Amino acid sequence: MRAAGYYRPSAADARAEQAALLDIERYCSEGFHTLTRTFGPGDPPLRDPDQFAGLVSYLESLGRGEALVVIPGPRHLSPTLDGLVGRLTELDRAGGEVRCTDTRRPDPLQNALESLPFAGRSPAQSLRVRESLLTKAARGEVLGRTPYGYVADIDGSFRIEPGEAALVRRLFDLYAGATPPEGQEPEGGPGLRLISGMFNAEGLRTRSNRPWTPVTLSGMLQNRAYTGSYARYGMRIVGNHDRIIERDVFNRAQSVMASRSPVRQRRSLTPYLLSGLARCWSCGRGMRGQERRRRWNRADGSSITRAYRYYACPSRSVGVAAGEDREAGAHPGWRAAELDRATLEAVRSEPVENLRASFRAVSDGAEGDDIRSVEDRFLEAVREVASGRGRVSDLGAPLGALRTAQDMLRTGSGAFTFDDAVRSLETAELSELHIGIASLVDRIIVYEDRVEPVFRSGQS
Ligand SMILES: [Zn+2]
Repeated sequence: MRAAGYYRPSAADARAEQAALLDIERYCSEGFHTLTRTFGPGDPPLRDPDQFAGLVSYLESLGRGEALVVIPGPRHLSPTLDGLVGRLTELDRAGGEVRCTDTRRPDPLQNALESLPFAGRSPAQSLRVRESLLTKAARGEVLGRTPYGYVADIDGSFRIEPGEAALVRRLFDLYAGATPPEGQEPEGGPGLRLISGMFNAEGLRTRSNRPWTPVTLSGMLQNRAYTGSYARYGMRIVGNHDRIIERDVFNRAQSVMASRSPVRQRRSLTPYLLSGLARCWSCGRGMRGQERRRRWNRADGSSITRAYRYYACPSRSVGVAAGEDREAGAHPGWRAAELDRATLEAVRSEPVENLRASFRAVSDGAEGDDIRSVEDRFLEAVREVASGRGRVSDLGAPLGALRTAQDMLRTGSGAFTFDDAVRSLETAELSELHIGIASLVDRIIVYEDRVEPVFRSGQS
C-alpha cells in the first residue's frame, strides 16, 4: 500500500528526527508499504499548520485512492486528543488512513487515548479503555477476530475458507453492482436489507448460526482485510494474505455505501438549545438532545434517509422515537424544534416582572457543566471508534459539537444583563438564546404534551 510519512519532533533534537525517520521506514518496509514521501518540519522549520497543509494537499493530489499516513506517534499530529481527532478527520476526507509506527499500538485513536490529554483530563483514565479492548480481543470479539471468509492458521496468518469466501464474493458483487461507464459513479446493486433477506431465505447463516443482518453485512463490506490488506486496529499485524475481493470491487462497494448514506457525512452540528435546562417531569433526568435517522425503503430496493433532532428522557425506552408512541411510557420525547418553540413561547408569555425577579446572570459553573457533558460525549465517541465501532468520519459531528460548545462558553463569559436576556428571546442566534433562557429560568419541566418553565423565586 502507498504510504506517506509524517513527523514533527517536539524538541530541536537531531536524533529525535533521525529516530522518527527510521521508525517510519522500518514500519513501511515491514508492512510492504511503498513510502512515496515523508513530511517533516524541514530547514528552516515550517510552521505546524503549513507542514500539515502540505500533507493534506499531497494526499488530495493522489486522487481518490487511499494512502497510509505513517506517524511515529499521535503527538506528531497534535498535542491534544481533540486536536488529533480534528486532523484525523481532515486526513480521512483527503483519503489518508493514519497508522503509528508502534506495532503494539498502531491505531492512532487507541494510542492517543493512552497518551494525549483532553480538556484538562489526564490520559491515565483511558488505560481502562485499553484493557477492555484487550479483553474483547481475547474473547475474539470485535478486534483481532478472523474475518468471515478466512480461517487462522497455526502461525496466526489467514487462510481462505472456500465456503465462506464464496458468500463474501457474492455479497460484494451484489452490493457493488456493475462496473460503471468511464467517469461515472457506480449505481450499485440491491440494498443490504434485500441481500440479507436473500441469504436468509436460502438458509445461509452466520458463523454463530444466526440470520444475516444488514449491520453484519455492512461491517463485512467495510473490512479491508478482504483485499489482502493488513488487519485493522493492529491487534495482529498481518503482512500479506490472499485476497478474496479485488481492490476495484472493494472500492466500488465503498463509494456505493457512501452514496447511500448522505446524512452520515452531513450530520447537523447545531447544538441543542435546551440541553442542561429541560428535565423529564416524571423522573427528573435531563432531556438529552439526539439525532435519529429514519429510513424508508422504496420499491426498487433503494432507500431514502432523513435525520431528525429530538430531545428524549434517557429513561425512555430505546428505539421509541418522539411522537411515534406516546403511550409507550411516561418519559417524554419531543422533536427538537417543537420543544424549542414551546419553551420560547412559554418564557415570552411570562410577565416581564416575573422574568426580572427570576433573572440571574449565568454563572460559569452552570455553563461549565454543559461543556463537561459535551466533552464526555466526545470522549465516548472517540472510545467507540477506537474500539472498532464506527469510522473516523463519524467523529466529525461530536468534534463539531465540542467546538461549538467551547465557542459558546467563550461568548457567554461576558457581562450578560437582564436586557440582554430579554432581547435574546427575540434574536435567532442560538448561542445567545441559550444563555438568555438559562439566565431567566431555573429549569424547564417537560411533559408529554406541554412544557412548564420553572422561574427562580427572586431571592437569589
Ligand atoms: Zn424520565
